[in-house]
Amino acid sequence: MAHPRSPLKIYALLPKRNCGECGVETCMAFALKLMEGSAEPRECPYIEEPEKTELESLVSPPIKKILIKGRERSAAIGGERVLHRHESRFYNPTVIAIEISDLEERGCLLKELGAASSLSIERGGEVFQIEAVALREESGEEGRFAEAAKLASEEFPGPLILCCYNPRLAVKAVEEVEGRPLLYAATEETLEEFLEIALDRGCPLVLEDEDLGSLRGMARKAIDRGVEIALSPASSMKSPFKALRNFIQARMGAISHGIEEFRYPIIGVPAAMWREVRNTEEGIIRESLISSMLLMRYADMLIVKSRSIENLLPIYTLRQALYSDPRTPAKVKPGLYTFGSPDETSPILLTTNYALTFYIVSGDLHRSGINCYLLVLDTGGMSVLNALAGKLIKPDMVREYLEEHRLGELVRHRRLIIPRGLSPVSGEIEEATGWRVIVGPEDSSELPRFLGRL
Ligand code: SF4
Repeated sequence: MAHPRSPLKIYALLPKRNCGECGVETCMAFALKLMEGSAEPRECPYIEEPEKTELESLVSPPIKKILIKGRERSAAIGGERVLHRHESRFYNPTVIAIEISDLEERGCLLKELGAASSLSIERGGEVFQIEAVALREESGEEGRFAEAAKLASEEFPGPLILCCYNPRLAVKAVEEVEGRPLLYAATEETLEEFLEIALDRGCPLVLEDEDLGSLRGMARKAIDRGVEIALSPASSMKSPFKALRNFIQARMGAISHGIEEFRYPIIGVPAAMWREVRNTEEGIIRESLISSMLLMRYADMLIVKSRSIENLLPIYTLRQALYSDPRTPAKVKPGLYTFGSPDETSPILLTTNYALTFYIVSGDLHRSGINCYLLVLDTGGMSVLNALAGKLIKPDMVREYLEEHRLGELVRHRRLIIPRGLSPVSGEIEEATGWRVIVGPEDSSELPRFLGRL
């Protein structure tokens, strides 16, 4: 079974100095952080052996975390604690790696690596990048794969996954790579040779087998040899449903049944389905669907082939939702936002920093093409009605925001448009600010028409 953790059990192993050096005031508060996984035992400088070892084993996540490193960036894979997000939260977002073949000519490789390095998608205040490159050996040529690995390491700042089933070729390539690449993958036939490479180079190794019994046997051997591993329980993607079943069984085996050999990150390879598909549009749709399915069910890393926005945006959007903390409201930075090119006659609108409200309102304002200011109050991510009910919006707070952002100097008028939900306190806001308060429409989609009539 998974570790029976409780804050009292953890607290019993702490020094009880209540000195605050770990960033929280008391040892009990630190115990709670350790239990939920937002702190690590090393953050307390006073824990000594044997408590340290006991504590680490008590608070370590059921799924081991492995770190892969590139020239400039690293990525953590695994480290999860629960099967379902509502039980607590997921911690390390699924790493998205783009597959590139060593069959590409040098010029194409450079172009692909450049595109992978520069891709950036902004969504909901987060900027997504391609976190890793998976270089696939398809040439069968030792020199070519090693040269492609060297180029990838020089051109791509993040970690590499060296996808090669031939240990002779893999060992040459790994010598050319900076950092700590992930070796993908050992099968039953090549396990011994790959274990030697992994031990020699200090790299984590992916074990691949669609039969979970065989995969478990391989994992046992690797664990006994002290090699850090990840698991690939579905490599061909001929049957995405079988892949999904294997992912679920492996993760449930680790978390619900404490099976040691499955307590490792799971790697999914939707890119493999391109071997069966020739039509690009169909391929992108299938890759995106398979990726989403595996992302929902425990893939700690996904290797995909298409870097088109149609493939990546749904994957990133789903990942963003899945890895947000369900206990914390989604919020944006409070402050003053501008739309278009506002001037001294432009309207000023007010809202809260609840992310959903902000993105709906700002989307409507962008689409309308209206030049205006949007003042966003810090309500801890609460919506207008909740913030009002919880007394998180006070008339004086609105005055302070107007003064802080010098809105009296930016515009000639003194009109403030507030959300309809704030109408019960419109008089108080008017009194506190000295500005004329206008109650806005019920729905922000009506803003363009509403503002046009002002
Ligand atoms: S640093 Fe250690 S001893 Fe001090 S409060 Fe934190 S857990 Fe307790």
